[in-house]
Amino acid sequence: MSLRCHFDADGWLQGPIKIAHTLTPNHNGGFGTGRGVVMHTEAGFEQGTFSTFMNKDNQVSAFFSIGRDGSCHQYVPVGKGLKAWSQAAGNDAWRGIEDEDERNPAIPLTPAQVRAFAQILEACSTFDGFPLKITDDVNGQGLILHSDGGQAWGGHLQCPGHVRAAQRPAIVALAMAIRHGDAAQPGGPHRHTAPGGQTLAQIAAARNTTAEHLADVTARAYTPADVTVLAHLPLPAGAPYYTSNP
Ligand SMILES: [Zn+2]
Repeated sequence: MSLRCHFDADGWLQGPIKIAHTLTPNHNGGFGTGRGVVMHTEAGFEQGTFSTFMNKDNQVSAFFSIGRDGSCHQYVPVGKGLKAWSQAAGNDAWRGIEDEDERNPAIPLTPAQVRAFAQILEACSTFDGFPLKITDDVNGQGLILHSDGGQAWGGHLQCPGHVRAAQRPAIVALAMAIRHGDAAQPGGPHRHTAPGGQTLAQIAAARNTTAEHLADVTARAYTPADVTVLAHLPLPAGAPYYTSNP
């Protein structure tokens, strides 16, 4: 399955990515030519970032944010000349991506975040016509850090911090692989169906991995079609499931 995404006619990202489209009140006109994408770190949680961006009193936003589970928000459509408010003087030519860090930017982006970031970067690169590469020049093109903008970009010199900044080469490499259609690997997810009669531990052992890893990858990869399949299979006694309420 290709991981490549695209922007629809209304400027919202579509494709094999979990993304919600919600226009923030914190935007205005004046976006020129997109030079690239800015990596930010949330210094918080995805839900709090969403709430902050949707409140006009805060006067802040970004084009995108990515949770640690890889689920994303888009707050401003592309192609409409609109600016999001994430890096001051850099708002008119750069599209900001916030990344959930649970208040600790020293933790790296999860594999799911790296993948979603690469998907968004690739789609923006295609849309705006900037190259898939790293830059630290606000007059350049590519993937830049918020801190690269210095005082003119709000003086956020610790955003996103060195741990996440060091993940830029991996993000750019994955974005290139996504563009060329060979990005599923490694990391997948690759879809399989159980033969019946095997435990998850047995399937994992046969693949030289762990049940924990398979459960983690599977939970993040389920598509609506997969849920439909599951919904009609009888669950064996003892199979755990979760609910939001008791
Ligand atoms: Zn930032």
